[in-house]
Amino acid sequence: SKTLEGKIALVTGGSRGIGAATARALAENGADVAISYASSKDRADAVVEDLKALGVRAKAFQADQANTDEVSGLVAAVVSHFGRVDILVNNAGVFVMGQVHDRANNVAELDRMFDVNVHGVATAVRAVAPIMADGGRIISIGSIVGDTSPWPGLADYSATKGAVAAYTRGWARDLGPRGITVNTIQPGPIDTDMSPADGEMAPTLSASTALGRYGKPEEVAAAVAFLAGPQASYITGATLNVDGGITA
Ligand code: NDP
Repeated sequence: SKTLEGKIALVTGGSRGIGAATARALAENGADVAISYASSKDRADAVVEDLKALGVRAKAFQADQANTDEVSGLVAAVVSHFGRVDILVNNAGVFVMGQVHDRANNVAELDRMFDVNVHGVATAVRAVAPIMADGGRIISIGSIVGDTSPWPGLADYSATKGAVAAYTRGWARDLGPRGITVNTIQPGPIDTDMSPADGEMAPTLSASTALGRYGKPEEVAAAVAFLAGPQASYITGATLNVDGGITA
């Protein structure tokens, strides 16, 4: 039988990129999957049709990760529709660059990145943790730049992803007694709208990896599915780099 049969998963930001691939990987392993999105209703609906074709239950919910009430409401809506949440994947995120000394920075936009990437994650975990059954799984998508800052302009984004990794370690301690594992996956360059493999930075990024290429969303999704499954029961509080060796 499939490893995630009977499980209910919530993937935030499941309308595109790594989140959409993750929703699919979880469904391929038998999980029913809720996805959230900010504005891409059509793409979210298409993902849901894709998931249903795999024979699982699936539904999309609109919720802005920057809005605490909407994130709490998302968790409540998923519980009301599916009955519970066994696997939470904190994937929704935004990427804004800016150097600290640049007066042209849009500080509001940089601050909003914290609301989405950090507070949105914390709000979701605070809402899910009290109702998650023992043995549950919480997996967040951080970034290798949570550990390293390879070039200028990344400080704010790096800080959000470093915070996710730090939260992960703390939540692993909080929830360990209930057999709930909490981990962060730190991708390297992955071909999505956020970081397209034909973008300006792409040749530099590819050349910096050990494998000499961009990663695919499915290659991150496979790691999420592993951490969500029964085989990963003794892994918690960890950061797992899925980065083609860019940090090697
Ligand atoms: P994309 O930009 O391709 O997709 C982002 C997803 O998040 C979309 O589904 C989007 O929904 C959703 N989202 C964005 N903002 C919000 C919001 N305010 N509320 C709700 N949903 C939102 O990104 P990726 O797939 O590349 O990134 C996914 C995660 O992986 C992010 O956390 C990112 O930081 C991280 N990451 C990505 C890397 C890469 O190279 N691509 C590298 C390292 C980390 P909608 O479609 O409605 O806009």
